[in-house]
Parts: sequence; C-alpha cells; structure tokens
Amino acid sequence: MLPIERQHKIKELLNDSHNMKISELSKELGVSEMTIHRDLKPLIEEGLAIKTFGGVTLASADTRDSSPLEGCVICSRSINERLAYRLILTNNRIEMTCCAHCGLLRHHQLGDKVIQAICPDFLRQTTISTPLAWYVMDTSIDMGCCQPQILPFEWKKHANQFVKGFGGNVYRFSEAQEVILQKMNGSDQCSHHQE
Ligand SMILES: [Zn+2]
Ligand SMILES: [Zn+2]
Repeated sequence: MLPIERQHKIKELLNDSHNMKISELSKELGVSEMTIHRDLKPLIEEGLAIKTFGGVTLASADTRDSSPLEGCVICSRSINERLAYRLILTNNRIEMTCCAHCGLLRHHQLGDKVIQAICPDFLRQTTISTPLAWYVMDTSIDMGCCQPQILPFEWKKHANQFVKGFGGNVYRFSEAQEVILQKMNGSDQCSHHQE
C-alpha cells in the first residue's frame, strides 16, 4: 500500500472509531509503528488528527471549525494558531486557549481530565507536548496576548538561548504553572474567571 493509501485508510478508521492506538493502526495496516507515525505526521499537521498518549484522535469538524471562532476558553480572546494551547480531554473534547498563559491555567483547572496538551514551539512552530516543554517568562518580547506572558519551547537549550538574547527566566511545566497561579492569585487586575 502506498503511504497516501494508508493515510486514506487511517482517516477512514479514525472516522469510524474516533480514537486509535498506534499499535492498533500498525496491526490493521500491516506496517510498523514507525511507519504509522510517519503516515500520521501530515494528518496531524493538517489538524485532521490529534496525537494522544500512545495513539491518535480524530479532530472532529466542530472542534476544528468552531473553536477558533469561539475564542479562548479562559479569556475569550480570538485564537492565534502561533500561540494556541490545545487541551485534549477524556471525553474526546478539545479545548483551546489563546496562549500558554491561559493554557497552563486551564490545564491546572481540568487536572486529570486532560489526556494530552499540545502547543507550538515558539521558535520552530512544531507541535510539542506541553508537560515536557520549557517556558520563558518575563522576556522583553511582547506577543500582545495575556500577561504575564509565557512562551513555550521544546528544548531547554532554545529557551536558554532565547533568554540570553531577549531576557527572562526559564521554567519547567510545573514551575511555570505554579508561578502563573501565584501571580494571578495576587493580582487585582485578574480578568480571568475561575470555574
Ligand atoms: Zn486566553
Ligand atoms: Zn492569551
């Protein structure tokens, strides 16, 4: 089967069952899991599918079409794909926030309901898993979204280099989440509504 045929088949399978494990797809199509990962890459980049832990989920038409219009689930700002933070939930819903600032807050609110969270690497625009990312705060670059601003990087090295050039501090996921929660709790100008 050609890669393009497999991708077509994967789309069909996802349409039927919504959620597939990489191992199931590999068995179903008779190719290695490596090959499945390669086949999935363009589907994920197109936003048709979303990587979950050990598998893949269909991005349903309504989540793809309506979320950017609905705006950020925390602050209702319109979504800029360059900064967007996506939360994939246990009930198959996908929530989007405008940036890592709102993303980390929402992620904290939802806790165990989050199966996976992804956002673009600030420099390379590749999709990264947010709990593994590094976050830069208090930098001189202002992207014009929520304050305090948080910029995500896949590699600590890149975050450190960014900070060398533009200032700021580098945090792990859990540290960044803690810092933002503290700052938001201490601020009167907080426009975010908690659940
Ligand atoms: Zn927001
Ligand atoms: Zn924002």
